[in-house]
Amino acid sequence: MAAHRAATADLRSRYARLPAGHRVRLGKPTSNLFRFGGEADAAGRLDAGALDQVLTVDPESRTALVQGMTTYQRLVDATLGHGLMPMVVPQLKTITVGGAVAGLGIESSSFHRGLAHESVLEMEVLTGDGRLVTASADNEHSELFRALPNSYGTLGYAVSLRVALQPVCRYVALRHVRFDDAKACAQAIAEICAGGEHGGQPVDFCDGTVFSAGEQYLTLGRFSDDAPAGLAPNDYTGQRIFYRSIAERSEDLLTVRDYLWRWDTDWFWCSRALGAQHPVGRRLWPKRYRRSDVYRRLVALDRRYRVSGRIRGRMGLPPEEPVIQDIEVPVTRLAEFLDAFHTEIGITPLWLCPVRLADPAGWSLYPMDPTQLYVNVGFWSAVPLAPGQPMGTHNRRIERLVAELDGHKSLYSDSYYTEQEFWQNYNGPGYRAVKGVYDPDGRLPDLYDKCVGER
Ligand SMILES: Cc1cc2nc3c(=O)[nH]c(=O)nc-3n(C[C@H](O)[C@H](O)[C@H](O)COP(=O)(O)OP(=O)(O)OC[C@H]3O[C@@H](n4cnc5c(N)ncnc54)[C@H](O)[C@@H]3O)c2cc1C
Repeated sequence: MAAHRAATADLRSRYARLPAGHRVRLGKPTSNLFRFGGEADAAGRLDAGALDQVLTVDPESRTALVQGMTTYQRLVDATLGHGLMPMVVPQLKTITVGGAVAGLGIESSSFHRGLAHESVLEMEVLTGDGRLVTASADNEHSELFRALPNSYGTLGYAVSLRVALQPVCRYVALRHVRFDDAKACAQAIAEICAGGEHGGQPVDFCDGTVFSAGEQYLTLGRFSDDAPAGLAPNDYTGQRIFYRSIAERSEDLLTVRDYLWRWDTDWFWCSRALGAQHPVGRRLWPKRYRRSDVYRRLVALDRRYRVSGRIRGRMGLPPEEPVIQDIEVPVTRLAEFLDAFHTEIGITPLWLCPVRLADPAGWSLYPMDPTQLYVNVGFWSAVPLAPGQPMGTHNRRIERLVAELDGHKSLYSDSYYTEQEFWQNYNGPGYRAVKGVYDPDGRLPDLYDKCVGER
């Protein structure tokens, strides 16, 4: 704790000394943002990478105290030794606990545990006006606590967080259940998430993979200390690829650790575009580099130097628009969303993840209805532009579709909203009120400027 206090004091004084007029940006070794426009101004960089440690794990109270830039990989390593894990572990190893609050985090336990930040009990925050405050749901900084989720570092930086943990078993036993149409899949999601069981067996985890309009699977996981008869634990960090196994087998068994990182090894399925799934490419690709942060770095380099865009141009292919988004719609509108998406955008596979807010009070900058079950849909690829279509055409269509279906869109990637639409969706009055208290001089950027302006 003494080292933490010293690191925090150091961060605070470096923040105070940042030159005026430069856009402040959090410096850390990894990022999972998919907006690359705001990375240029080095003078405003506030290096916080040293605040990356798990401070304590308390098995009695089932809580952990972590520094803000601690990755979930490090937190999981620390808690599994105590037979515990965070309530929601976002799938990518380098997502940090602070980043999952500021940018929202979701996983297959979210249908009963809510979003990742909903198991954060309190946070120590370096605010935009340079104070260090502790915010919780019921203290004098509760409005900051409620507004930090989806604030993307525009109100302040979480420097430590106390998070609730849950006990684990040795394995997660999986069932992959196929649905031939989206309506039946949505109906099953609603029933499974309401009852917490399927076919008489408990469901602790639920997510889904859409391979096409006629082929979608729900993957239902349950904690188990024993291997079910006939099943031995599988490992998808080698030559085999997890997402392909979903269509190939109806049951599977993973250790808890392998289950939590099942999507990281191949960045869901996105490693395919980088050649890491080709049998030869995979054998040559060092195992330690089969990780989402490595792929993300490669994509960032490609974006910076426009390598694939130039190659497409030379080959006479049309330009492509990156469509890298997570959205959620009420489960009752999921089939409508998927129908329109298959017809108009056409990316597959898609990831499905049911989520219901755990806290009935809700979260001010991401106004989901706590009484509703939503389904997050993730899609990460690029779509060709027809002649005359400007960049943003496909993302804009998705933004409108999501709004028509009473849904929301995460802001970790490109957004094209007008300022008016944006503030209607993300509670402009609520944001301005909290910004006025914790960053009255606008030392940190404004949420709209950051999330839309920096694409
Ligand atoms: C292809 C792709 C798939 C994704 N899939 C998922 C998914 O399945 N599940 C999921 O949960 N998430 C997913 N994400 C989103 C990811 O969780 C968010 O982008 C998250 O914010 C990243 O956290 P990070 O720690 O890497 O933060 P960074 O990328 O470093 O930062 C994200 C933002 O949060 C701010 N920030 C970071 N740390 C702090 C802090 N301590 N205090 C205040 N503000 C801070 C930064 O200023 C920045 O604006 C996905 C993202 C991508 C690109």
